[in-house]
Amino acid sequence: MNPPATTAAAAHPAQVREVTLLAPCYNEEAVLPAYYERVRALADAHPGRAFHFLFVNDGSTDGTAKILDDLAAHDPRVQVLHLAANRGHQIALTAGLDAAGGDLIAILDADLQDPPEVVAEMIKKADEGYDVIHAQRRQRPGETWFKLASAALFYRLMKYLATRAWLADVGDFRALSRRAVDALRRYREPHRFLRG
Ligand code: UDP
Ligand code: MG
Repeated sequence: MNPPATTAAAAHPAQVREVTLLAPCYNEEAVLPAYYERVRALADAHPGRAFHFLFVNDGSTDGTAKILDDLAAHDPRVQVLHLAANRGHQIALTAGLDAAGGDLIAILDADLQDPPEVVAEMIKKADEGYDVIHAQRRQRPGETWFKLASAALFYRLMKYLATRAWLADVGDFRALSRRAVDALRRYREPHRFLRG
């Protein structure tokens, strides 16, 4: 008889082979070409790993849909989901997580506030066997003082109230193993707060 197919080593693959970069997009026509160049460079820097650039167009009303369709027509790594209407960032992410393949799924904002180059470090951590790898903000350039102050207050209040470990200044920018995504997908609440 053959040995069982699953072993401890298979449950924790030593090497990430297939990476999906998932970006929700709402009216991001101005920045999408630059985002695409940055993720393309990231993929070029990782020969030997397959990349998918998955975009969820969250009911954009600008040129986002056309830019994404053009990218997909020229680059087979580009995958696009078009939502019929604007449903918000968390629902767009949920749709993306449902569709994402690969053994590591990295969630990034399309507006380049999450630097794609950081995903290189996330891949290294995933190779070590980590299931959830968070990026933590040191700075938030380009935000208003009100956003900075309200975000700082929000994260600290949540840390105080949370019954489980809560990481301050950590948004949705993170990488999840296939195992973590499959677990997260079992939760189907419509009011979502994925980073929690
Ligand atoms: N986004 C989305 N649907 C929305 C609003 C935003 O998919 O209704 C996307 C947006 O294109 C970006 C990410 O979600 O890639 C974060 O949005 P935003 O930059 O507005 O949020 P913030 O920087 O304030 O966290
Ligand atoms: Mg932003």
